[in-house]
Amino acid sequence: MISEPAFARRAPARQAASLYDDGVQIDRVLAEVDRAREEITDLAARLVRIPTINPPGDEYETCAALIGDQLRAHGADVQLLPAVGRLEHTPEHPRINVVGRQGGSAQGPAIHLNGHFDVVPVGLGWTRDPFGGEIADGKLYGRGSCDMKAGIAAAVFAAEAIRRSGVGHTLPIEVSGTVDEESGGFAGVAWLAENRWLSRERTRAVIIPEPFGVDRVCIGHRGVYWFEVITEGRIAHGSMPYLGVNAIEGMSHFLDLVRDELGPALAQRMTAMPVVPEGSRYATININGIDGGQPVDEIPSPCVADRCRAVFDRRFLLEEGLDQTRGEIAALVQKAQSRMPSVKFSIEDRLIFEPTRAPEDAPLIGALTDAIAQVTGRKASLVASPGTYDQKHVARIAGVPHCVAYGPGELAMAHQPDEYCSIDDIVSCTKVLALAVLRLANL
Ligand SMILES: [Zn+2]
Repeated sequence: MISEPAFARRAPARQAASLYDDGVQIDRVLAEVDRAREEITDLAARLVRIPTINPPGDEYETCAALIGDQLRAHGADVQLLPAVGRLEHTPEHPRINVVGRQGGSAQGPAIHLNGHFDVVPVGLGWTRDPFGGEIADGKLYGRGSCDMKAGIAAAVFAAEAIRRSGVGHTLPIEVSGTVDEESGGFAGVAWLAENRWLSRERTRAVIIPEPFGVDRVCIGHRGVYWFEVITEGRIAHGSMPYLGVNAIEGMSHFLDLVRDELGPALAQRMTAMPVVPEGSRYATININGIDGGQPVDEIPSPCVADRCRAVFDRRFLLEEGLDQTRGEIAALVQKAQSRMPSVKFSIEDRLIFEPTRAPEDAPLIGALTDAIAQVTGRKASLVASPGTYDQKHVARIAGVPHCVAYGPGELAMAHQPDEYCSIDDIVSCTKVLALAVLRLANL
């Protein structure tokens, strides 16, 4: 993990406490959020009505423009940032990010709120219009309502409530909307970090309002190692299979080892991170796909399969580390190879994300948990995510370890049919974000 003691050093606890204990200022900020309830809901609904489906990355320009216009109307200095240099940034599907900065000393590092505005495809099973932005029974419905356009609206209005309250802050506040989180975030947060829009110099702390719920702060996530195993044999006539070498048989040796040896070993390894749901507190492996021999739907010809590929999704723990994880897979492939030497085995890495965790004493964790207690009267819980999100890019590329996720919506609603987010939750999260950001911007 990257260690960043500078934030803690620059944080005089007394000053933080005095601002935080100032009930008048806090009440003013909270009152502004309540007053803006309709505006917050309206912005979230308007965002949902833009079908920013990824893949392929539809309507990004429209959505970035809407967020940019809103931030500009709130007095922010706004930049629309096309992800120049990324192959997926094309004329048909431009990848446009947006960053707005306001208040504080212009040069200082900012407190940054980031949300992705891409959404996953609709899927089957809807009884509501997925892009209608319909509001009923105190809920906003639609694809992306929970993951995570409600979070973006909360971020925009947390900053705005602070501005409207007139309560001062020394550090600037930034709000960004970014693309492609659902497909890895390379043209989104990773691009912002590579191009130094997010960096140690420019960014003090980042909160990503992903839908972990009103009283849960997500401190990080497990790592991802996607790899492909390829087996190559020798083609022959299917009536004389002993004259060929069957690549699918070779793959079956590896699958046996995954099931009988690796699977049980992983089920014994538990992380100290508070991953939810509980089952994902352990190391896991999934077989994502397999493809071998001739295509089954085509007219069959009698051949021995000379090629087989399978893709695996290994989620690894901070305690395991990437080197151990990769080494273990390589050793397992070697073992399969020794069981069937006539087949040629190889491994190709497909996608790697390191596990990430905010430092335990990060001031933003304290700021959020205190604000949650203040707004909801409940004790906050710290959780970690079973899957990854953009925190990895903030920590690894921007070099800003002070990053967590906190935002409205139930995690289980993400990517579901009839996805929704409770309006009360959006407003409560906006309050929590506003109080936490105000405190962090005065440290
Ligand atoms: Zn999300």
